[in-house]
Amino acid sequence: MTECVICGERAKTFPRTGYYTHQDCPRCGEFKISGTLEVILQKNYPKDHEARTKLSGWVRKRNMFGEVPHCSDKDEAINSYLFDKIKAMLIPGIPERASRLLEFKVRRQKSIGQVFNRDNPAL
Ligand SMILES: [Zn+2]
Repeated sequence: MTECVICGERAKTFPRTGYYTHQDCPRCGEFKISGTLEVILQKNYPKDHEARTKLSGWVRKRNMFGEVPHCSDKDEAINSYLFDKIKAMLIPGIPERASRLLEFKVRRQKSIGQVFNRDNPAL
C-alpha cells in the first residue's frame, strides 16, 4: 500500500506500465494520473486542499456515474491539461455534496442498516 497521489489516503498502486501512475484509492476510486501531473501536484499543490478535493471528487464522480465532462475515455490518464479544467470547476453546493455522499455510501453498502463513519466515508 502506498499513499494516493491525490488525497494521501492509503491506496493500491498498480505496477507501472507507462508514463502514468495507476492507483485504486478507497476515497477517490481507481484512476490513472500522468507523471507530469503527479510532479505538479507534489511541487505546486502539496497542501492545496481545494485543488486536491476537486480532483478527488472528479475522479469519484467519473467512477460512480461515468458523467464527467472533458473525458470520454474512462481509462484515460488525468493530465495537467485536464487538471486545469478540473481546478476551474466550482465546488458543488451542500445539497449536491450530500447527495453524492449518499450515492457513494449506497454503492459501497453491502447490507441494509450498515453503519458508516460520516467523517471518513471511505472507510
Ligand atoms: Zn485518493
